[in-house]
Amino acid sequence: MNMQNNPFNLAQLLEFAGKYHPTQKVITRRVEDDQIVEHTYREVLARSKKLANALKKLGVQHGDCIGTIALNTHRHMESWYGISGQGAICHTINPRLSMKQLHYIVNHAADKYLLLDPIFWPIIEGMHTKFPNVSGYIVLTERENMPKTEISNVYCYEELLTDAPDEFDWPEFDPQEGSSLCYTSGTTGDPKGVMYTHTSNLLHAYGLSLSDAIAVGAQDTILVVVPLFHANSWGLAYAGPMIGCNLIMPGKRMDGGAIFELIEKYNATSAAGVPTVWTSLLEYADKTGKKMESLNDVVVGGSAAPPSMFTRFREKHDVDLIHAWGMTEMSPLGTINRPSGAIMDLPKDEYLRIRRKQGRPIFGVDLKLVDEKNNQLPHDGKAVGRLLVKGNWIVHTYFKAGKPAVDEDGWFDTGDMATIDEYGYMEIIDRAKDLIKSGGEWISSVDMENHAMGHAGVSMAAAIAIAHEKWGERPLLIVVPKEGHKPTKETILEHLSTEFSKWQLPDDIVFVEEIPLTATGKFSKLHLRKQFEGYFD
Ligand code: AMP
Repeated sequence: MNMQNNPFNLAQLLEFAGKYHPTQKVITRRVEDDQIVEHTYREVLARSKKLANALKKLGVQHGDCIGTIALNTHRHMESWYGISGQGAICHTINPRLSMKQLHYIVNHAADKYLLLDPIFWPIIEGMHTKFPNVSGYIVLTERENMPKTEISNVYCYEELLTDAPDEFDWPEFDPQEGSSLCYTSGTTGDPKGVMYTHTSNLLHAYGLSLSDAIAVGAQDTILVVVPLFHANSWGLAYAGPMIGCNLIMPGKRMDGGAIFELIEKYNATSAAGVPTVWTSLLEYADKTGKKMESLNDVVVGGSAAPPSMFTRFREKHDVDLIHAWGMTEMSPLGTINRPSGAIMDLPKDEYLRIRRKQGRPIFGVDLKLVDEKNNQLPHDGKAVGRLLVKGNWIVHTYFKAGKPAVDEDGWFDTGDMATIDEYGYMEIIDRAKDLIKSGGEWISSVDMENHAMGHAGVSMAAAIAIAHEKWGERPLLIVVPKEGHKPTKETILEHLSTEFSKWQLPDDIVFVEEIPLTATGKFSKLHLRKQFEGYFD
């Protein structure tokens, strides 16, 4: 053997931080009482080992799926490492999913334990009988904040940790094995699981840490607004320990004032999240006249950032807004917008226009644009095509799916429509998938239409995304009533609430006589989107 080939385990990232950056911190706004607490990487490492021991004692074995329903806190991060590090699968679950989706994914993954924040206990209390594989629930808190419940197999996280040793020998195994599982509802039908591996997460963390990607070092502090439960938290919980920077975990408070306080108090130099959060932050700064002194840049992704957001950050706060694009299926980073030498001498307007695009791919991700007949399109900044991706941290086959999610040449279809210019910058132009993304979370138009059409007074229903200042998009439902019926908005909303969470319900329902159809008889969403453009302005 010429070179060492040491088996890699994700826990080594935290081991590295504990050894070489032992005093750098994970700063958390607690979910229970919004108090801010600090833990060093050395402490987070020791606590993740305690959890690994506790889970082993509870019978967790190599390859078991362990679900987490939790916000961004040090405990959730410890769980990531304590679970994956021992060879089990850390299955992060989005608490904003509808009950139906939650039910589906916990059972599809066959989660053996669920670790959850105390604020999510009411969800579980009402559903626990529907989870036959779950042996117990671990509430991420101390004894005094434990929920009062009659259910017997409920454990207190801090008690489990107190009783467990803080030494654990992370096992060796094939690093191509699964480490973590994240379901996406940004697809048709039931949510689909993406099983990341130790290797794919490692490569992604290296890619993310490049200076033309998140560009932070051990002197930086990143505010991790992007949830640990959505799209692998953009890989920041892995890249942070790899880089040795401080991480700020904001807990449940996402309002501009709370986010500003964390940035100011801890001199955050960088931050990552969806546009909705940055809108609240900018509004808070405008209202109070405060400036974000410490921030160098803010990474925005998950949905398109409005052009005005770039100007507001730059002109008022001297902050570079960095546009990034990716998907749960891509771990998630695909492209990120840092300036390349090739565009520096362009006229200012042209330069700024390019800087607002979703950015260039980093090595490890390849992009391809194709037309309806799958012919490759040129990178001329004009040709709009379906965006296909291929790479080392991109899904091959969804979890427990029979057939691959990629074509015969290994390309995965993102469902996004884009252009790529001569300098390599990609811009998302439209979405081919029929979905609505509100505040960074998905709502399925097809599910909403099907369910609405189950209402006794509804003949046809089409759900479309309408641009919304705060949430990016909000659903509008267009309904053709059945002959002789006069359904009301209230009864349709009540009918939808049996399947959809409150935030997923349409903001308005419009009654029409007919819905325009395409040549193949489908609802013409293009036509409807044009007809109702600006409806929520
Ligand atoms: P998710 O898997 O939930 O992160 O969703 C991925 C999808 O979100 C992509 O396929 C895009 O449709 C959309 N998306 C993510 N980032 C951006 C962005 N910067 N601009 C526009 N759409 C985005």
